[in-house]
Amino acid sequence: MDLSENRVYYSTSGRQYGLKEFKQKYSDEFWLFDNMDDAIESAGVSQQKLMEMSIKTRKRIIEYMRDAGRKNAAMLAELAHTETGFGRTEHKVLKNILVSDNTPGVEDVESFCWTGDYGITVVERAPFGVIGSIIPSTNPTSSVINNSISMIAAGNAVVFNPHPSAVKCSIEAMRVLNAAILEAGGPPALICTVKNPSMESSNVLMNHKDIALLSVTGGEAVVKIAMSTGKKCIAAGPGNPPVIVDDTVDIRKTAKDIISGASFDNNILCICEKEIIAFDNIADGLMEEMVVQGCKKISGAEIDKVVNTVLIKQENGSYVINRKYVGHDASVILEDSGIDYIGDPALIIAEVPFEHPFIQVEMMMPVLGITRAKDINDAVRKAVLAEHGCKHSAMIHSHDVRHMTLAARALNTTIFVKNAPSYAGNGFEGEGFTTFTIATPTGEGLTSARTFTRMRRCTLHGSLNII
Ligand code: NAD
Repeated sequence: MDLSENRVYYSTSGRQYGLKEFKQKYSDEFWLFDNMDDAIESAGVSQQKLMEMSIKTRKRIIEYMRDAGRKNAAMLAELAHTETGFGRTEHKVLKNILVSDNTPGVEDVESFCWTGDYGITVVERAPFGVIGSIIPSTNPTSSVINNSISMIAAGNAVVFNPHPSAVKCSIEAMRVLNAAILEAGGPPALICTVKNPSMESSNVLMNHKDIALLSVTGGEAVVKIAMSTGKKCIAAGPGNPPVIVDDTVDIRKTAKDIISGASFDNNILCICEKEIIAFDNIADGLMEEMVVQGCKKISGAEIDKVVNTVLIKQENGSYVINRKYVGHDASVILEDSGIDYIGDPALIIAEVPFEHPFIQVEMMMPVLGITRAKDINDAVRKAVLAEHGCKHSAMIHSHDVRHMTLAARALNTTIFVKNAPSYAGNGFEGEGFTTFTIATPTGEGLTSARTFTRMRRCTLHGSLNII
């Protein structure tokens, strides 16, 4: 699909529209603005309207949003892939469907109460109001769907500042969701944004007096800026998830799980396996099996070639990724590195020392370093260091429950997956709900509607208790 206007939009009634027709039916005048101040004001008006509506209507709004996310999943996935060049379209379709289906809704916003001699005290979860949300280029449409469902289910409105390199697809995701909200009988501007998001509009959003809460997903820089605004901030920061493999496992299944997780959307998910720490006595067998299952193993001078293609050396000797290769196919990286390959490898794997950037840097592409450990203590020590204290995600493949426990305790990550691909820890072929806003430095963990609420207590003295 090109970035012109030849897309098909589905309304929740199932009717198909061209963009022009869709825009005529669902005007963007209420939610798409030239400047951030207008976006925030409009969102505020709609949030007030939402508060006047019944919970039943709010539930219907969420159901319509889910339906719109599902019906437009393929269109939005293709648009995101074309615009950013990241990942694999078929995986982006799965991500859009996953968040549409598996993001908790209004039911997540539970109240509770105490009753006793003194009467009754109820605790309810109230909305913050208008939330400012900064979203990444790596999951643009799925983050819009996921955050919008979570935040609106909790009674908020949201103003997004999309990543400058994923503006178009993010805006189109908002368009289909806003149309669905209108069809459900909701207000016209619960999801607002600006036509040309920039660092400047992001700063206006982060510091605006009417923004009650920030939700920020991205790398270290943006998280640091948001956390220094003085506002309450739910920060979903970077990770570098290690995967430990000990010598108690079925190597074939382990190789399959690691490949499935690490190659999903070409490794741009923050939770994806980013480096393998394998017991010495199974490392060769694991690498051989990964090659059998479709990975390209590089060694010697080939490793330097790939380093020179996908990484940039800084003056202080550290490496940063070359954004040109983020989320690109392994075949593109091999081609540009001048390395022969056959077919469409799922991953490029390389045995490297622990200090190598393939272990230490959050690569965000299908390049996976493998390093050896002599025993579980060595493996856990290396995994903790490679995770850099992000407290994000980690995996282990083991049938020894002591190894699992030791690693889980030492790593102390928000997500810890045992014997499965990383995505099982985020509700994809694994138990539990899904989110693409995993609040790591601020500690809320996997976010859902209740994360975006304020706890309020209401006490009635001397009555209503009947026990
Ligand atoms: P990024 O940091 O480049 O951008 C994220 C957002 O922040 C964008 O909207 C961008 O416009 C904005 N931004 C960046 N610098 C800014 C600044 N100085 N001032 C104001 N706004 C700024 O991130 P990206 O490359 O799009 O996403 C990848 C990163 O996000 C990875 O590190 C990944 O681990 C992380 N991530 C984390 C989660 C999570 O749930 N924890 C989810 C997805 C991505």
